Amino acid sequence: MMSEVKQNNPPIAGAAGRPGEEEAARERQHFDINIYRDWCKSCGICAALCPKQALTLNEEGEPVVVDPDICGGCGWCELHCPDFAISVRPRRSTQKASPEAED
Ligand code: SF4
Ligand code: SF4
Repeated sequence: MMSEVKQNNPPIAGAAGRPGEEEAARERQHFDINIYRDWCKSCGICAALCPKQALTLNEEGEPVVVDPDICGGCGWCELHCPDFAISVRPRRSTQKASPEAED
């Protein structure tokens, strides 16, 4: 007998509530990743936890987005950032990837 696996990922807008559909919707969705430089202390947690390697650290140890289109939208970087310095939001299908916030 198969048991249902609970997902701890945050829900995404427009995803249906049935098992598997949320993850499938996330696979089709693209996300924009914004890093707020004034708040980021370059701890590296976001890049270390990213399961898709969508984030990396530059030579100064600052997080940079490698490619927003490989982001799976899991939200781990945002959830674990101790300084609330990174956000991940679903991109509307007609929008191009937005550049990182360089505040
Ligand atoms: S987890 Fe937050 S503070 Fe740490 S490097 Fe990433 S964005 Fe910066
Ligand atoms: S939401 Fe997930 S896949 Fe996307 S950058 Fe953050 S940790 Fe990586």
